[in-house]
Amino acid sequence: MAAYEYETHDYDVVVVGAGGAGLRATLGMAEQGLRTACVTKVFPTRSHTVAAQGGIAASLSNMGPDHWQWHMYDTVKGSDWLGDTDAMEYLAREAPKAVYELEHYGVPFSRTEEGKIYQRPFGGHTTEFGEGPPVQRTCAAADRTGHAILHTLYGQSLKQKAEFYIEYFAIDLLMSDDGACTGVVCWKLDDGTIHVFNAKMVVLATGGYGRAYFSATSAHTCTGDGGGMVARAGLPLQDMEFVQFHPTGIYGSGCLITEGARGEGGYLTNSEGERFMERYAPNYKDLAPRDYVSRSMTMEIREGRGVGPNGDHIHLNLSHLPKEALQLRLPGISESARIFAGVDVTKEPIPVLPTVHYNMGGIPTNYWGEVLNPTEKDPNAIVPGLMAVGEAGCASVHGANRLGSNSLIDLVVFGRAAAIRAGDVVDREASVPATNTAQVDKALDRFDTLRHANGTVPTAELRDEMQRTMQEDAAVFRTSKTLAEGVKKMEGIAGKMDDLKVTDRSLVWNSDLMETLELTNLMPNALATIAGAEARKESRGAHAHEDHPDRDDKAWRVHTIARVDGAKTELSYRPIVEAPLTSEKEGGISLKKIAPKERTF
Ligand SMILES: Cc1cc2nc3c(=O)[nH]c(=O)nc-3n(C[C@H](O)[C@H](O)[C@H](O)COP(=O)(O)OP(=O)(O)OC[C@H]3O[C@@H](n4cnc5c(N)ncnc54)[C@H](O)[C@@H]3O)c2cc1C
Repeated sequence: MAAYEYETHDYDVVVVGAGGAGLRATLGMAEQGLRTACVTKVFPTRSHTVAAQGGIAASLSNMGPDHWQWHMYDTVKGSDWLGDTDAMEYLAREAPKAVYELEHYGVPFSRTEEGKIYQRPFGGHTTEFGEGPPVQRTCAAADRTGHAILHTLYGQSLKQKAEFYIEYFAIDLLMSDDGACTGVVCWKLDDGTIHVFNAKMVVLATGGYGRAYFSATSAHTCTGDGGGMVARAGLPLQDMEFVQFHPTGIYGSGCLITEGARGEGGYLTNSEGERFMERYAPNYKDLAPRDYVSRSMTMEIREGRGVGPNGDHIHLNLSHLPKEALQLRLPGISESARIFAGVDVTKEPIPVLPTVHYNMGGIPTNYWGEVLNPTEKDPNAIVPGLMAVGEAGCASVHGANRLGSNSLIDLVVFGRAAAIRAGDVVDREASVPATNTAQVDKALDRFDTLRHANGTVPTAELRDEMQRTMQEDAAVFRTSKTLAEGVKKMEGIAGKMDDLKVTDRSLVWNSDLMETLELTNLMPNALATIAGAEARKESRGAHAHEDHPDRDDKAWRVHTIARVDGAKTELSYRPIVEAPLTSEKEGGISLKKIAPKERTF
């Protein structure tokens, strides 16, 4: 057995992750009077949330009429009727409150002439239950909304005396014999020490797993560590086959050009200079939801109307917009286009391509953020002591496809909800669970085995193989053949995890070992994604299956539950939550209004 000494820390709550979700949860927990620690592998304001440009959705009605019921309807339709209705209602209803709280905490939103929070149009956000024109619902701080939110929440969390453990890497969860979570084991990256956090509640806010793919807009740190830890604890992942491709990643680098660029009037053209979105989505054109636009772009390229020497990408045009508008509303993307595409947006179009951007799937939770371990008897069974929020979780509000600006609002609404819930269920007087030494030893054995891994395959090589396979076989368009081959290939790749080679054996700033730990987390996420996709014989939201082009509500309006063990994935299904929280009489939306129908734009 590996001999490592470790220091123990006792808290009411330990939040793993300091992105928008983790910080909002941390702040809320501390406000509730809970002794709270936040553990993060990167400095809080370097979390991927800092890169969010476009904005955060809430029906504030600052630019014209809007209602939370309209926002809820758009979210239901955007999800292609796979989201949980209670969670989607909670999101849309609580969104304005959550945004005003951010304003009062100090987020420097852009302003209208009257001094109200500025809101811009975003894809899929409409009026009159999808019957009216697009709405300006996305609250923005220029094109640096995530940056503004993250800095504000970090400052506020410090003010509330939450304690931060920065550059600590969470390795594994501590699970009791009766299935409750009692803490987490961490490795301090800068001095190599091991730390065990015992807590009454652990909150996973570790973000998405975009880096399972070759071309992604997300940071290199987005490696699905929460999902990996959960899978190793024998708990499931949900709806992993739904991976969002953002229409406008810069060709080559994958760096994101916000949808806000189209919100401000930008549009896409093919090699004939045609605004082709008018053909695919006559009403909402370039502002149709992302899955729709990404597929339309891919069709144009496939049919020989792509731009560039290889005809393999599309143009995004902004040069018709007034220079002042570009400077005021989109300064960051003008800079990105210059650096990553060598393009002056006031003169030339930006070369773009659909790029992996967001993971709708994740750790299943209810709308309080409590992690679920569905059984046949109880599809909503809760795992005591464990919550998940943000992109790591799946509440599920995004179903098969997330609307732009609905993630930032998801982070703060559910980060806040988790804190409210923890304030109720965590007993402040109770003692913190004792260190589960058997579980600590198990986690450290795994750590030690990886540290001394002496096989033949370097981590970077295996990661590259995984990324290319996912990019090719679990792409924008999928077929039975590519998916079946993909599953086989991925199982083979996962099988090589036992043959990894780590060259650096030290414990201090060992990025080789850290990337290896991250690969052990990416792998179960990737396996669940491709296995879930292979099994789902329909097309819905981001899952476009060429051999099954129609949505099949009768057979497939269910959540995929994936349990990954080594290279094998076992799938089962869980019914979606169909009932809203409030009835029409109570001011809610009627079931009839949100009943499934064809999704056109
Ligand atoms: C370029 C880009 C632009 C976007 N723009 C928008 C937008 O305009 N509007 C919108 O709504 N959404 C947008 N999104 C989506 C949205 O930003 C993300 O879904 C969201 O920020 C995820 O936040 P999070 O808090 O869940 O995780 P992250 O912000 O990714 O943070 C994860 C945290 O977990 C920590 N962590 C992870 N693993 C470990 C570990 N093993 N040990 C310790 N700590 C760990 C990290 O240190 C980090 O602090 C965008 C995404 C991208 C990539």
